[in-house]
Amino acid sequence: MAASAFLYAHKVWVHSSNSEILYQISSNVRATHSHFRSPRNDDSFDASISQASIHQPLTNSTGDYCVAMEPSSNNSYDLIVVGSGPAGQKAAICAAKLRKKVAVIERKRTIGGVCVHTGTIPSKTFREAILYLSGLRQRAFYGRGYALKENICMPDLIFRSDAVMAREIEVIKAQLRRNRVTVFEGNARFLDPHTMEVASDDGFTMLRANNFVIACGTRPAHDAQIPIDGKRIFDSDQVHDLQELPRELIVVGAGIIGLEYASMFAALGVKVTLLDQRPTLLDFADREIVESLCFQLRQLGTVFRLGEKVVSVGFDEQRDRVFASLESGKKVHAAGLLYAVGRQANSDQLNLEAVALVPDGRGKLIVDENFQTAIPHIYAAGDVIGFPALASTSMEQGRLASCHIFGVSGNIPPNLIPYGVYTIPEISMVGATEEQLTRDKIGYETGIARYAELAKGQMLGDDQGFLKLIFDPDSLKLLGVHIIGDRASEIVHIGQAVLALGGTIEYFRDTVFNYPTLAEAFKVAALDGLNKL
Ligand SMILES: Cc1cc2nc3c(=O)[nH]c(=O)nc-3n(C[C@H](O)[C@H](O)[C@H](O)COP(=O)(O)OP(=O)(O)OC[C@H]3O[C@@H](n4cnc5c(N)ncnc54)[C@H](O)[C@@H]3O)c2cc1C
Repeated sequence: MAASAFLYAHKVWVHSSNSEILYQISSNVRATHSHFRSPRNDDSFDASISQASIHQPLTNSTGDYCVAMEPSSNNSYDLIVVGSGPAGQKAAICAAKLRKKVAVIERKRTIGGVCVHTGTIPSKTFREAILYLSGLRQRAFYGRGYALKENICMPDLIFRSDAVMAREIEVIKAQLRRNRVTVFEGNARFLDPHTMEVASDDGFTMLRANNFVIACGTRPAHDAQIPIDGKRIFDSDQVHDLQELPRELIVVGAGIIGLEYASMFAALGVKVTLLDQRPTLLDFADREIVESLCFQLRQLGTVFRLGEKVVSVGFDEQRDRVFASLESGKKVHAAGLLYAVGRQANSDQLNLEAVALVPDGRGKLIVDENFQTAIPHIYAAGDVIGFPALASTSMEQGRLASCHIFGVSGNIPPNLIPYGVYTIPEISMVGATEEQLTRDKIGYETGIARYAELAKGQMLGDDQGFLKLIFDPDSLKLLGVHIIGDRASEIVHIGQAVLALGGTIEYFRDTVFNYPTLAEAFKVAALDGLNKL
């Protein structure tokens, strides 16, 4: 039995891996034990917890000796946040800035959530590395065979994403530390509506709070029929652990994640087959933009099998290849398969029964417009509440949840959320689509700027991109902005600002834009739209 740390306690129960109580230490005995931790403002822990009252025998996740304690005033918080992804970070920092006592519980050894470790940051860094090393954008000038590096391999890509991830983690740590947010490492679960247990390999800690923000995020959804091994058949969390690039890849699931990775692998010259049972892609996006995306992905060699249901996935030993069998009778073979059919919320690990919260079938929590659950002092934000499940929106939801808890006003206007889809080429949009306006019987007109008409588009070698403005033909008020092409997700914010201020497309006509820029597309599209009236 390891017994090295010091602890003052009223009563300590120590027990073995089979939960049998070995001995009890009475009040105010100075016990030595390695499984007690007290938080500091970084993600390491010191060993001194004072004035704790221990009352309940428990085993830890490894079934080792452990000690549970009632929270002391030291372990009582105004707010406890579960999860250190974008939603959790911003909820915690917002509350800390309101001078509240805040703890974040994070079960991973390093902070940052899916966003930093397996989602946004690594995938977008991969994309940058692929665009750079493949020389894709330069091929308009230097020929179809141009590449900055021949034989690009996984370490080339991982090298860059590891560097960015490491820096991003440091930034988050520094922010939490600077704002005096206490970070606990371990698995959080509710014991009662105001008490959480943090379980780690080192033991248990009990924390109390007046308020909670659940920002526990999601994990890739799995199916017992899909034999994911992390090598040949892998999910999006495992892409970065691949040892080598597959020569051909099947992507099951053409949602945002599936499409992004499909386009990245295609840009590397991998022969990609994209499968989805839905007949159309990206239902929330402008149809013309989606058609252009499909065209450009086909140019990269991607094969689409939409409206096709996958009935089984497996490994063909004889051919040394993975396969996906489709309901239509087709069978697709490849060297690897990415299974990307959505995500499952992590709320199933929080013992929500103890607080009488009931998630939906995929573990998502229902919240109102203030991110408040049915239990008034428990809020939820980020991917655990579902669509749009973006880092960008999660951050804002976390911040707004804390604002509401502590009586500060704030809201997200729903029609002003920009969406970025980092396929190659990238897509971005804000505001209404033509399809929504048609459905709602609202008249509109459009103006289009093609990148091929812009000097900057030509310089960048993107002659396929375009920007579409949707506006009211009577008032000229801007209603929506849809872009496909280089830097779409950057320049969309120009349109977002005009939308937020209720502006008209005359703003673009009458404004001087830097030249040459892609932002100039707003002016060209406004002129195009005005010419149609
Ligand atoms: C491949 C991929 C690419 C993406 N690309 C983009 C993009 O380009 N742009 C964009 O805006 N979004 C993107 N996203 C989405 C984005 O990553 C998520 O929306 C965002 O990370 C959600 O933040 P969150 O705080 O809700 O949860 P997460 O980031 O998932 O963090 C939740 C944290 O809670 C912790 N946790 C869970 N349960 C417990 C528990 N019981 N105890 C303690 N800790 C717990 C987890 O370990 C995790 O660290 C992408 C996602 C993926 C998968």
